[in-house]
Amino acid sequence: MLTGIQISVIGGDARQLEVIQRFSELDATVTLFGFDNLQNQFSGITKASLVPEALQTTDAVILPVVGTDDHGNIESIFSSSELRLLAEHLEALPRHAKIYTGMAKMYLKKLCAACSIGLVELLERDDVAIYNSIPTAEGAVMMAIQNTDITIHGSQCMVLGFGRTGVTLARTLQGLGANVKVGVNRPEYFARAWEMGFKPFYTKDLYEQVANIDLLFNTIPSMIVTAQIIANIPHRAVIIDLASKPGGTDFRFAEKRGIKAMLAPGLPGIVAPKTAGRIMAETLSTLILEDASTRRNV
Ligand code: NAP
Repeated sequence: MLTGIQISVIGGDARQLEVIQRFSELDATVTLFGFDNLQNQFSGITKASLVPEALQTTDAVILPVVGTDDHGNIESIFSSSELRLLAEHLEALPRHAKIYTGMAKMYLKKLCAACSIGLVELLERDDVAIYNSIPTAEGAVMMAIQNTDITIHGSQCMVLGFGRTGVTLARTLQGLGANVKVGVNRPEYFARAWEMGFKPFYTKDLYEQVANIDLLFNTIPSMIVTAQIIANIPHRAVIIDLASKPGGTDFRFAEKRGIKAMLAPGLPGIVAPKTAGRIMAETLSTLILEDASTRRNV
């Protein structure tokens, strides 16, 4: 239980409702910032304005999946007013407090370092990234279905990158009956992809490998699907780039060649906010509980 633990939830989307629900079930004391338009009434939860004094007794601050933008602004679909995290907010926190988010931009990293406040990026954790890859793969399949006039079954699919998202996506496509090629950068990934029944290749050979594909899914977060590669992709092909912004595709050149290419960020929050929220909620409550017991034992 999180009895006696004070948690401040600042901004977010539908995923945060699962997180708030879980904290409420675990008896935490929760204050919401940037939830003015939220209709749900969770028991024992209060709303407040984001002023430093309101954070003075907080043990854990929960930010949305993308913590802040490059200027400290925090998105909230539940509020029309601006939310901005500044040094004065962090300075008001007790020294043991930690900030939890999915991934932090440089602004947040620098702010936490300057104010000596711990920062936890949940998506850096393997377990969270692997669980999160499930709604991501389902979202990628949804985008593929919406943007093609063929079935995934029997299609020539390519997945670039064989990490946490790539493995799940390749297996999901294979389960739907696609022929799946996987672009890797290491012999151990090549071996594993081969063992799993995919057709692995090294991405240094990407140019030759793209010649007959229907669908290309990229998970490599650097420029990989260059103009030169796109020049060898059939016109019928669709590129779905899952890598974090700005993706790994030369979108300008794809458009010029008339090849459908799209960046598809934030799929878990779009296709399965409840599941994605639960993934965050479970990990957050475990981590906050661990922090609390460490403090008690010191
Ligand atoms: P990951 O586990 O690090 O996977 C990326 C993989 O790409 C790694 O295995 C990496 O190899 C490999 N790689 C890097 N450069 C390569 C190259 N030139 N050739 C072949 N492989 C290469 O990361 P992830 O968790 O799967 O996430 C992948 C991307 O998707 C990230 O940008 C993440 O932010 C994004 N993402 C997007 C969504 C969405 O909704 N669109 C959801 C989840 C994640 P090494 O192991 O050697 O580094």
